[in-house]
Amino acid sequence: MTDKDLYGGLIRLHILHHAAEEPIFGLGIIEELKHHGYEISAGTLYPMLHGLEKKGYLTSRHERTGRRERRIYEITEHGRIALTEAKVKVRELFGELIEGH
Ligand SMILES: [Zn+2]
Repeated sequence: MTDKDLYGGLIRLHILHHAAEEPIFGLGIIEELKHHGYEISAGTLYPMLHGLEKKGYLTSRHERTGRRERRIYEITEHGRIALTEAKVKVRELFGELIEGH
């Protein structure tokens, strides 16, 4: 098992969290994750975004600004519910992992 497998769920939750705040795009998320110390390549991120979309947590559309094209992802209602539920679990894990109870 690689660190990537270990952190996969955290990264997905992180993506959902930011998508819940505003529409996101691949490179923006790569930058955001870098701030948090995750070095993630496009080759890893895009399948994750695609997977989240396939599960119905995100929806995407193509956006063209001038000559620039990119895929914009937005959270769905299903994604918001999943994120809310995941927060309960993260809080519990945080309590056990970090606060020791
Ligand atoms: Zn963040």
